[in-house]
Amino acid sequence: MSLYIVPVPIGNPLDITRRAVQVLERVDFLVAEDTRRSARLLAHLGIAKPVMSYFSPREKEKAGAILKRLQRESAALITDSGTPVISDPGFLLIREAVSRGISVVALPGPTAFVPALCVSGLPADRFLFLGFPPRRKTELERNLRALAHLPFTLVFYESPRRILDLLSALLRVFGNRAFALARELSKKNESVIRGNLATYNEDLEDEPLLGEMVLVVGGCPANQAQNNEVTITNREDILRLFEERFNLDRNAVRDAWMRKSSS
Ligand code: SAM
Repeated sequence: MSLYIVPVPIGNPLDITRRAVQVLERVDFLVAEDTRRSARLLAHLGIAKPVMSYFSPREKEKAGAILKRLQRESAALITDSGTPVISDPGFLLIREAVSRGISVVALPGPTAFVPALCVSGLPADRFLFLGFPPRRKTELERNLRALAHLPFTLVFYESPRRILDLLSALLRVFGNRAFALARELSKKNESVIRGNLATYNEDLEDEPLLGEMVLVVGGCPANQAQNNEVTITNREDILRLFEERFNLDRNAVRDAWMRKSSS
């Protein structure tokens, strides 16, 4: 049977699509990240349905029973907000469903990064969605270094507790760039602050850093991207490039290379 991926509102209950409601009504059962939250949504929509839970980090363990039912029944996967799989559970279940020949249908609908990108005022023709960045400072900076040369707008999800640390790390690694912080999208206190990394403290001074937020950061300017072009003259240049751009450990790449060339 079919597994439907059904986006749910990220704030405003009116944002659920008519097709999403129709699918929720028609499927045999639901697969939900948080069964209490899905119960509230279903009550709001007047839908009564059996619900199986599916949440991170127990996705693998939960998938077996869901896949078994999907052989004879159809289901809708929902998460707490927005589109399943987008910084939310779903990937493992979908990969397994696809490999077993189960039909997977994704409905278009609410997700936080699209309205944030659209409203940011930053180029949206090419962008990179990065979800939640690493929490540990060294890992975060290593990740950012690998992104510093990319000429695409970057989009991050972050919690209000860590947003200032992220902005400060971005300034250290990227230097000054434009940013937009989109808060509480589609909710009563929705706001968008547009500023520059060099002045982020002043730009955010009057803003309560609460609620849900998406950070959109300008890509590497063309003149800087050119300055960052590397000249490769020997193997160490290539290894350094792997480390800086792709975040791969130089020694591990060297070892793999040596093993390959001696085999
Ligand atoms: N699946 C969701 C989607 O499609 O966007 C994302 C789920 S992720 C666990 C939750 C994060 O999404 C929040 O920490 C925040 O970064 C972002 N987010 C969700 N709702 C939002 C909103 N109304 N306004 C701004 N950001 C939001």
